[in-house]
Amino acid sequence: MSVDQLSAAYFETGTLPDLPRDHFIDGRAVAPGVGGRMESFDPGRGMAFADFAAGDAADVDHAVTSAVAGFEVWSATPPAQRCAILNEAARLMRQEAERFAVVECVDSGKTLAEARGDIAGSARLLEYYAGAADKLDGRSVNLGNDNAAFTLREPVGVTAHIVPWNYPTSTLVRGIAPALAAGCSAVVKPAETTPFTALMIADLLIRAGLPAGVVNVVTGTGIAAGAPLVRDPRVRHVTFTGSVATGVGVMQSVAPNVTGLTLELGGKSPLVAFGDADVDAVVEGALWAIFSNAGQICSAGSRLVIQRSLHAEVRDKLVARAQMLRMGHGLRGPDIGAVNSARHLAQIADHVSRARARGVEIVTGGEVLSDVESGAGWFYAPTILDNLAATDDAVLQEIFGPVLAIQVFDDEAEALALANGTEFALAAGIYTKDIATALRMARGVDAGQVTVNDYWAGGIELPFGGNRKSGFGRENGLEGLDAYTRSKAITLAV
Ligand code: NAD
Repeated sequence: MSVDQLSAAYFETGTLPDLPRDHFIDGRAVAPGVGGRMESFDPGRGMAFADFAAGDAADVDHAVTSAVAGFEVWSATPPAQRCAILNEAARLMRQEAERFAVVECVDSGKTLAEARGDIAGSARLLEYYAGAADKLDGRSVNLGNDNAAFTLREPVGVTAHIVPWNYPTSTLVRGIAPALAAGCSAVVKPAETTPFTALMIADLLIRAGLPAGVVNVVTGTGIAAGAPLVRDPRVRHVTFTGSVATGVGVMQSVAPNVTGLTLELGGKSPLVAFGDADVDAVVEGALWAIFSNAGQICSAGSRLVIQRSLHAEVRDKLVARAQMLRMGHGLRGPDIGAVNSARHLAQIADHVSRARARGVEIVTGGEVLSDVESGAGWFYAPTILDNLAATDDAVLQEIFGPVLAIQVFDDEAEALALANGTEFALAAGIYTKDIATALRMARGVDAGQVTVNDYWAGGIELPFGGNRKSGFGRENGLEGLDAYTRSKAITLAV
């Protein structure tokens, strides 16, 4: 079915055909044990559209047992064959991209265009790590003539992947693609509000030739399914993407087993614009740094740190642009889609109401909206808070919605202090025409990634991750393989 046909059928029936609704364990769909079923909602309509398995500890135990057996097979599979299977998975994902995008759009609330971008990026991730699978070599080490020494780069074993709802497909693939390239097996726990594309990916990988048991998916809540997964001592690495609070809990859960951990947590990333920057580039950059994916991006540019000479002009242009953005159900081609859940919408609204109550100037937005055509759904107006103090909660706390906080500076030292003025350190954008300013700021800012004059510049080839409360470990790029391999040194007396 074409996207238009699928959309029309969806709006008529309120559901999508042929969704996978059970766990995926040992190469096949597995009905939940005692956990039963739960519903997934379409945020664009605020209505349930399909149910899925509510996993529990017994389902997780089954999946990890399957992954232990899967690891035996996959770690012994020649790297060139791993490479071929991952490439085939990339090809299938491109071939089936439109269906993936529609499911992602309905399940997450994002726009179809954003969902298409995520699927294309995920296919690219599979391809990128396919290319690495047969290049994970160790090295030979010269200890003199009495020894021969070399290192092996081994897969770590069974890996667990806890995935959030803002980028259900690409966050999952950026974890499992390097894990599979390295020879690891995986158990995935997608977010409870976005379970479907994870199940579709597991099925796609089997069709691409992946042996049964290598990738398993257990759906359900974080407490019932995520917690037993990260606690399982057979899991040797956990890749967690989500909130700081849950990440801290996961860190405590893996400690007794001394399990490896990658934490990709929150952010409050600054876009720093100097007085000499191109005004239109700053406006477009800041607009999409915060309003892409309705602001639900860990690395969103949620703070505009701007030099006083540009402040009024950029703010006024931003307000005008924000007011032109069309919101609506993701399948109807809006500029901005829904936020992922009623609960999250209430949290965003609460942040802004508290800001209003303490006298923060809200120059646009600040209200809950619905889809114009249906009058339903969970939407929040693009919102800009102006002239905030460095100590304001809207500067310090991650809102994870379409809410931009503007901070004004007078000189470079103040710009750097404001940029580094939160407990997060994930991303930063620098806008200036002066290369020396750009380089000084890029060096000085505490962040895992810095872009200059284009907030979203970069690609999956570059490492991604944060410092301080934004987490540790890196995904994407060749660095993304490190978590899934370990080095073994072998020395022979000769
Ligand atoms: P969350 O922490 O509530 O949930 C994330 C995942 O953890 C979900 O799959 C959830 O079911 C699971 N989970 C919850 N409790 C668990 C437990 N006790 N044990 C194991 N798993 C558990 O986060 P969220 O609200 O879904 O996602 C939003 C947050 O994620 C934001 O703070 C955002 O910044 C962050 N995020 C970070 C990145 C990054 O790469 N740094 C990317 C996307 C999102």
